[in-house]
Amino acid sequence: MKLPLRIGNGFDAHAFSRSEERPLILGGVVIPHRWGLVGHSDADALYHALGDAILGALGRPDLGHYFPDTDPAWKGADSGAILRDVARLMTEDGYRPLNVDTVIIAQEPRLAPYVPAMKENIGSLLGLPPGAVGVKATTTEHLGFTGRGEGIAALAVVLLSGDEHDAP
Ligand code: MG
Repeated sequence: MKLPLRIGNGFDAHAFSRSEERPLILGGVVIPHRWGLVGHSDADALYHALGDAILGALGRPDLGHYFPDTDPAWKGADSGAILRDVARLMTEDGYRPLNVDTVIIAQEPRLAPYVPAMKENIGSLLGLPPGAVGVKATTTEHLGFTGRGEGIAALAVVLLSGDEHDAP
């Protein structure tokens, strides 16, 4: 069913890998940290939350349906490729993003210095100017699994337009 506007939200979380040496990647940015995140792909929780938000807005099944963690093709995959595939489904369905907003929930490390690069990566993958991409980082004041430094979570909302006359 074609709609003029569609909204979607997504959530993802990954645990820190304390034994295996892995890079920490969020929004396509490699962030220097003592631990990376565990996952079948590169465990980019921000890209995964965004991908799920877009799929949700389209009324499609979730990220795990298209990119199952049992599929060797996605082992260690760059999640930018996953998000690009999701963007292709969005285009096929006749939608484009108007804006996206995201929150990364992490006690550590400090993410503010990497936010501009994440916004740029998301903007270029989705065809949005940096001004239409929100990326915020927050701690949970040491509460819960993120607060204990066990992992990182991310939330995303997207607004899609089905009107081809709307500028991105
Ligand atoms: Mg994930």
